[in-house]
Amino acid sequence: MHFIIIMTVLSQRIENLSESQTIKMAKMGRELSAKGVSVINLSFGEPDFGTPQYIKDAAKDAMDKNFTYYTPVSGYPDLRKAIADKLKRENNLDYTFDQIVVSTGAKQSLANAILCIMNPGDEMIVPTPYWVSYSEMVKLAEGVSVFIDAKAENNFKITPEELEAAITPKTKMFMFSSPCNPTGSVYSKDELAGLAKVFEKYPNIYIISDEIYEHINFIGGHQSIAQFDNIKDRVILVNGFSKSFAMTGWRIGYMAATKEIADACDKLQGQITSGTCSITQKAAIAACNGGLDSVYEMCDAFLNRRNLVYGLLTDIDGIKVNLPDGAFYFFPDVSAFLGKSFNGVKMNTAEDLSLFILNEAHVSTVTGEAFGNANCIRISYAASEDQLKLAMANIKKALLQLV
Ligand code: PMP
Ligand code: GLU
Repeated sequence: MHFIIIMTVLSQRIENLSESQTIKMAKMGRELSAKGVSVINLSFGEPDFGTPQYIKDAAKDAMDKNFTYYTPVSGYPDLRKAIADKLKRENNLDYTFDQIVVSTGAKQSLANAILCIMNPGDEMIVPTPYWVSYSEMVKLAEGVSVFIDAKAENNFKITPEELEAAITPKTKMFMFSSPCNPTGSVYSKDELAGLAKVFEKYPNIYIISDEIYEHINFIGGHQSIAQFDNIKDRVILVNGFSKSFAMTGWRIGYMAATKEIADACDKLQGQITSGTCSITQKAAIAACNGGLDSVYEMCDAFLNRRNLVYGLLTDIDGIKVNLPDGAFYFFPDVSAFLGKSFNGVKMNTAEDLSLFILNEAHVSTVTGEAFGNANCIRISYAASEDQLKLAMANIKKALLQLV
């Protein structure tokens, strides 16, 4: 007698991994649109502006000049130099070009850093709410995420005391974003100094500072935790062009770190993706050197939209929401609606509510569970003012139908 054991094709690694909820909700919105429903997409975090013309021109020029071959894995030296110059000029941070590794996006730079530094079982401290992919990347590295609940009362920011309480002998890394996706919170220089003082006491902890929303900041100049000399060598600064220059589809980001970490990321990339697109890299040089006028214009538009949506959201009974200082998201607490029903269907979770809003209000949002807070949903306001007004009116109308 023969026994056939059917083995699953897929690895445990991929079975354990959750699908990105931002990408899933955007996909569901697109599917509904394909059926002829007019869906307003407030789920995907991407600027609705076009890439500035001078950046597109640099890409065309790169093609004409035949920059169409493989590039060095960490990026063209002139791009890495332009990024190092940017970090000095805008952030007063000293890095040499060989400490910069250009990648296919901040997402890849985060994954590179995690995979190069964490061993299985190492702990990564992550303040919640956090960006969706953080905890999944830690899973891929077989690490363990240790969450600190950043309270809405403290503008979703953690204190030095909370940080220190989460540290154990297994802590290897800490990862956060400021301005934060999904809360829009921005850490001040003093707040970062408080965290840096704690890290000073623990020389084996490495800090990933995700600064992709650097320029979408409504309360003044960007502050990086890499500015504190006593911990700078343990900071992996991650940034990119997707948000500041509306270049999400071009796929380019970078990290700055010690040469040891940069070389490790170069080795990893060299086996997985190689250098990112040659044409994109030439466009990114133009972005680095072209000034910040277009960035400020976009930031002004985001500020107007933030104020508009804040007014409309606070007008909905049951919604509790903070006024974000940066990025382009609201992260409202919707717990008042959980347990209510529509046509006999109960909203048990924020995901149920987010799907209800998609199907009834035709607005795509993302469940807060994906960001580590099951009482919230995330609303991106990277859409036109007209779309935002319509979306908020539709959401309000839908929520009023819940009993
Ligand atoms: N970090 C955060 C906090 C983000 O919101 C995103 C989404 N774009 C990324 C990193 C990844 O950006 P990129 O497009 O550069 O991969
Ligand atoms: N970062 C964006 C977001 O949070 C884009 C989607 C993604 O890369 O996951 O929606």
